[in-house]
Amino acid sequence: MLNRFGRWHRDHDTVFLAGFALLVCLLAAAVLAAGGEGRGQIAVSVVPGGAGEVVADGRVLRHAGGRAQRSHARVRFTLGSARPDGAGRMLWLPREPVAAMWAEAGDWRSPVRGFFDGGGDQGVLAAGYRLRLPAHWEGPVELDLHVEGGAAAALRPVVLDEDEVARLEQRAVAIAATVYAALLTLSLLALALYSAARDRAFLLLFGCATLALLALAALNGHLYAMPVLRLFATWQAQGIWALVFLFLASWLKLVQHYVGGHRLGAAASCSVDVAAGALVATAAVCLLDLRLLDPVMQPLAALGSAASGVGSLVLLMGAGRRRVAMAWPLLLVVLATLLLALLRRMTGYDVVPGLAAMRYGFQAGVVATLIVFAVGLVSRISEYRDQRDHDRLARADTERRMQREAARTDLVGALQAKLRTLAPGDIEWTGFRTLFDHLAPLLPVASMVAVAHGFHGRDLMVAHPHAQKDRFVAELQPRLLPLKRQAANGIALQQPFTSPDSVAIEAVIPLQIRTPSWGAVLLRRAGGDGFTSDEMALATEFVRLTQIQIDQAIAAVNLRRSAELDALTGSFNRRSIDQWLARAFSEAERDRQPVSVLFVDLDRFKAVNDRYGHACGDHCLRAAAAALRGALGERDIFGRYGGEEFIAVLPGRGGAAARQVGEDLRAAVERLALEWEGQALRLTVSVGVATRRDGEHSPAATIDRADKALYAAKRGGRNCVHVAPAVFT
Ligand code: GH3
Ligand code: MG
Ligand code: MG
Repeated sequence: MLNRFGRWHRDHDTVFLAGFALLVCLLAAAVLAAGGEGRGQIAVSVVPGGAGEVVADGRVLRHAGGRAQRSHARVRFTLGSARPDGAGRMLWLPREPVAAMWAEAGDWRSPVRGFFDGGGDQGVLAAGYRLRLPAHWEGPVELDLHVEGGAAAALRPVVLDEDEVARLEQRAVAIAATVYAALLTLSLLALALYSAARDRAFLLLFGCATLALLALAALNGHLYAMPVLRLFATWQAQGIWALVFLFLASWLKLVQHYVGGHRLGAAASCSVDVAAGALVATAAVCLLDLRLLDPVMQPLAALGSAASGVGSLVLLMGAGRRRVAMAWPLLLVVLATLLLALLRRMTGYDVVPGLAAMRYGFQAGVVATLIVFAVGLVSRISEYRDQRDHDRLARADTERRMQREAARTDLVGALQAKLRTLAPGDIEWTGFRTLFDHLAPLLPVASMVAVAHGFHGRDLMVAHPHAQKDRFVAELQPRLLPLKRQAANGIALQQPFTSPDSVAIEAVIPLQIRTPSWGAVLLRRAGGDGFTSDEMALATEFVRLTQIQIDQAIAAVNLRRSAELDALTGSFNRRSIDQWLARAFSEAERDRQPVSVLFVDLDRFKAVNDRYGHACGDHCLRAAAAALRGALGERDIFGRYGGEEFIAVLPGRGGAAARQVGEDLRAAVERLALEWEGQALRLTVSVGVATRRDGEHSPAATIDRADKALYAAKRGGRNCVHVAPAVFT
């Protein structure tokens, strides 16, 4: 079950990964589709002008940055004749963060465009600065491009037909919108996941995605078109860098958390914290708006990005080796993003063409990276869930074990309490019924049967439910031999059981009895569901416990009996007779009832031993004891007092009744027809009778008188009854 669950998880991750790959492909396709320079582009040559601040090489006008700085360049190109459809032509420059820019040629002057005005009439997500050229211009054109303030940036002017510019702008808008939408979705998702999973990593992801959204929107100049976020324009280029540094700080913390901060070495963890702290501090410094820092900001941002990128690569490499989920894919996208960011930088130096793919590629890379992070973190949720499921299972297991432990204790307690007071014949039966009562709530089954042959010398069948016992008797009759074989194996097993009206699985739990005796408990479960190994173990243990308790109870009864009874004749021994006598005397005194003691002694028994041997003597003793017991009533107590001397205690009887009993005893022995090795034997007894007198609180005095009466009977010729004289006085 758990296995199936785990596989489902992995499949789930695969679906997630496939979805992610699709998304990245779409993003890449969008970026690539937006690539390609404008069709019908007119070659433009740029000659640097101004004093010292402007460095121009080939087609690129480099603006050295700084708020107060101004620079200009001369731009030369040749225009063809005006298009017949009247469509105009434009000088188009990708948006770079400059405070203001405009073009001038003679008395013509373009409107002023600024990065921080949010696009203005150029549209909310404008991709470039559009300067419409007068429609009548033809032939070679030379104009001055003026730039004021802002971050150091490279401007690449191109001249294009109006509709071509519109096409480029549209594509750029589509890409930018996709990137923003992806980041917004990601940050909302991260927030939702945080509220669901309460993992701080999702909060970091939320922060990182939000800061990426702000920083990219600022880098593209779109942030300043938003109603409130427009305030960032106050800081101009410094605001952009502040956002970039904050993003890098949150990125580092996210990576640190993702790769398992606690598992990093103290040094690595500390350096990540220091770097993140430094980035936040730099961001704060940016917001102080110190002009002094203008020239160093861009290199500083490049340095910060490169350091954070390389740092995160190192962390991810370690995590990949530790088999942290998604660490390797993350490493790849981070690497790709870094390369794309580098390409973006290079376009500034005109080393690589300023394609839209270069412009937006790294932005797509940032989105892709954060998506992989989200995938990794979500897959971590499933890890948590696995862990939680595992914990829950472990807890359930512990609970079940405790429940079982309690049930076991209950069973043993119940067996000990019940079996102790029972007569030997009831112990086995009650033991198994108690077992069934305790097993039923733990082990759902349709029926339970205990069947045993020769268990403590008895044949036994206990069924639950009891009403079905007759059915079981009929059913098990033909199965006794195979069952005996299975029970003799001593190993619990389960097997299918089919009867005309049902299909079931039957567990056979053998009792541990020595052959040829055998016994087993049969548990039957309707349908095809077998017993788990756990259930089999439980049943086996409970059966074993029950059997131990039954054995102990029977052993205790036997022990008790052997202490009370005379081994030869099975009647009470001297010790128990003394106890019975004491009890009978105190009851008689309390109830003011008579009690009599009769001593019975075999006549000339020594001669029997001498003549026929001791074995014959024993045989005679057993026979005489049985005859004497048979002549007594239910309430009378009878035992062997020693040697060939017996005693009978008659509660509630005295006087003539006691004498009559004495006479009955004597007659019973006289009537015995004994035989030893083919020879007929005759036994007689003499009986001495004494009834308790008032004032005789203990039996000793009465016994003494009974003894004397016995001697009197012996002296009187044996085979007679003598009553102690005190009875008559
Ligand atoms: P009487 O009582 O009539 O005077 O004669 P008696 O032969 O019975 O007398 P006595 O009490 O001297 O002998 C008792 C004999 O009983 C002695 C012993 O051999 C025999 N006896 C006592 N206990 C046992 C026993 O457990 N088994 C056997 N076989 N004989 C026993
Ligand atoms: Mg004797
Ligand atoms: Mg005798």
